Amino acid sequence: MCGIVGYTGPREAYPIVIKGLKRLEYRGYDSTGVALHNGKLNVYKKKGKVAELEDSIVGTNLHSHIGIGHTRWATHGEPSDRNAHPHQSASGQLAMIHNGIIENYNQLKQELINKGYSFRSDTDTEVLLNFIEEIKKNNECSLEEAVRVALKRVTGAYVILLMDESDPETIIAARKGSPLVIGVGKGEHFLGSDASPMLEYTKEVVYVNDYELAIVRPDELILKNLGNEKITPYVQKLDIELAAIEKGGYEHFMLKEIYEQPQTVYDCLRGRLDAAAGTITMSGIQQYAEQIINANRIVMVACGTSWHAGLVAEYIFEELCRINVEVEYASEFRYRNPVINKGDVIIAISQSGETADTLVAIENAKNNGAIILGVVNVVGSSIARMSHAGAYTHAGPEIGVASTKAFTAQLAVLTMIALKIGYIKGTIPQDRYLRLLKELEEVPEKVAWTLKHADNIKALAEKYKEARDFLYLGRGYNFPVALEGALKLKEISYIHAEGYPAAEMKHGPIALVDENLPVVFVATRDSYHEKVVSNMQEIKARKGKVISVISEGDETSAALSEDVMVVPEADEILAPMLSVIPLQLLAYYIGLARGCDVDKPRNLAKSVTVE
Ligand code: GLU
Repeated sequence: MCGIVGYTGPREAYPIVIKGLKRLEYRGYDSTGVALHNGKLNVYKKKGKVAELEDSIVGTNLHSHIGIGHTRWATHGEPSDRNAHPHQSASGQLAMIHNGIIENYNQLKQELINKGYSFRSDTDTEVLLNFIEEIKKNNECSLEEAVRVALKRVTGAYVILLMDESDPETIIAARKGSPLVIGVGKGEHFLGSDASPMLEYTKEVVYVNDYELAIVRPDELILKNLGNEKITPYVQKLDIELAAIEKGGYEHFMLKEIYEQPQTVYDCLRGRLDAAAGTITMSGIQQYAEQIINANRIVMVACGTSWHAGLVAEYIFEELCRINVEVEYASEFRYRNPVINKGDVIIAISQSGETADTLVAIENAKNNGAIILGVVNVVGSSIARMSHAGAYTHAGPEIGVASTKAFTAQLAVLTMIALKIGYIKGTIPQDRYLRLLKELEEVPEKVAWTLKHADNIKALAEKYKEARDFLYLGRGYNFPVALEGALKLKEISYIHAEGYPAAEMKHGPIALVDENLPVVFVATRDSYHEKVVSNMQEIKARKGKVISVISEGDETSAALSEDVMVVPEADEILAPMLSVIPLQLLAYYIGLARGCDVDKPRNLAKSVTVE
């Protein structure tokens, strides 16, 4: 889950590595470290964010033409200076950074302890590193060979980068289950968990695959499999601009990304949706249309916010396509021996395309004959590559740890897939189809309208920032939005919040309601509206503080609510793309008002590449 960076070439490595780590901090930020080479290996590492490491080594001679850097999201051992990466081998000859988990580290550790090794950290990483060193020593082989032999014994997920004191030009890298990109420059190479650390230097990149090992020197990139056979690197051209990953005048990435949504939803629809012609062009989906239409069932597999997008999609697909849909947490689905048959279609939803549980879940399903469709934001990511087909969400890099624009783009993509399939299948009446296409085309404008009318949300945040708990309620298409609103608040402000189907609250959560409990209703005008209004009455009767997301002009709900956030009228299928926006802003401003680091909430990481 951490971020890794590497550089080898004629430039000074340290500034490149540090800048790259800052871009990757969304992946983890509990400790930071770099290894450089200046006649000998030098390792600097520290608990805390990248800036803290930087401050702590001001004035140090950091000259080096090679470097690796790591920003950690701890799995084994608390965040501390000694558990921070890079780790150094027992002899001090090797330095290594690692993203992932070595699952059999205990067994390897025991073997090493029996051979007299002791450990400075609690990490699985240090175990693997010493295991590599032990093999190198015992077999009297090259580092590359030792890595290969060691990795054959390892279970788990990793990207590792290694430096050797006796070879000040070479970084050895290997991957299984965590992402690794290598940027190819002129007489230099860059390494990263994603392409952001290398964007200003090169647009030529190689995505390393599982079970591949890279030997990276300034003027040479050798890729091999674990059987020591050479593989020709497939160099791709990147299509991201640097500006897309910078804050652009906003105080936080999260706010920038919330405000980008009119554009990102538009980008997602662009080139696909043509309401006037009545068409949706999605070539990957078209190619598998037959299988999707005839699917026994569709299973949405996802985690976190993407899982909420899957839940909304369940309602949409069942309505428009009349296909049975199930929505699964990837982490549960992969382990419970699910029944997967040839006629199943799996839709894997993931912003990063690297979510470890989702990746393994679809791998299993693929092996059982299911068709895999990916709804992914990061182009070239592992899930995108593992899917038979799919559709990118085109939301641009999402850096804020709490997902916002990726969610609305996922909803836009999933809605288009459902419309396309329902139309081909003949389960959507022509007039409804055309009306939905037209309304979908208007969503970016309506998102912009929502953002323009959101200026009361900051004041709401001030009013409710001291609440201990929040309840979020919604029905139908807005039920998953209630879950998402609660999740955003928890992530960003650390206030306990629960999302619930509005009717279901009578079976439990209503016991929590008193004059101190803010209850957020996602109550846009839809076919459930009257029922939701009754639920509001029930909360109000128990002195709960009703805050509602309502459709413009809905006087009834407004009269029942202590505070409202307004969105424009929309077909209920499309409403979640609008009703979630005030909830994103509410979470953001409450987090801010409570002094939380909204872009880097505690304990979280952007891309969960460990299971
Ligand atoms: N398992 C390693 C650790 O706990 C790496 C975690 C990461 O990916 O940041 O240090």
